[in-house]
Amino acid sequence: MEVACPQCGNPNLDVDEANSVVFCKNCGFAVKVDPQSGNVTPLSEGGAGGGAMEAPQSYGKKSIFGTDPLTFFLGATAVLLLSLYISFIPMSYFMLLESAVILIWWYGR
Ligand SMILES: [Zn+2]
Repeated sequence: MEVACPQCGNPNLDVDEANSVVFCKNCGFAVKVDPQSGNVTPLSEGGAGGGAMEAPQSYGKKSIFGTDPLTFFLGATAVLLLSLYISFIPMSYFMLLESAVILIWWYGR
């Protein structure tokens, strides 16, 4: 099937022959194609936003709290650094929370 992903433009869509599902490993977009009628049923729109249709885990990438593990790690670290910078949290809290973030990221990768 020579169709690019409508969500991210990835030209290499993967096909799950057993379930007649065409999906994009890049963004999680997935549609079910009925081999009899040719009807296409959207399963996941992929990309950001989420919405009503949750991306099936097998078609999406690993995530922590719904975000990419690296995004989670960088975002949480940025928030902690900012909190430390404006003296919202003491250094000991920062070390503790940053350790937790690294642990969650490490096991969630
Ligand atoms: Zn895609």
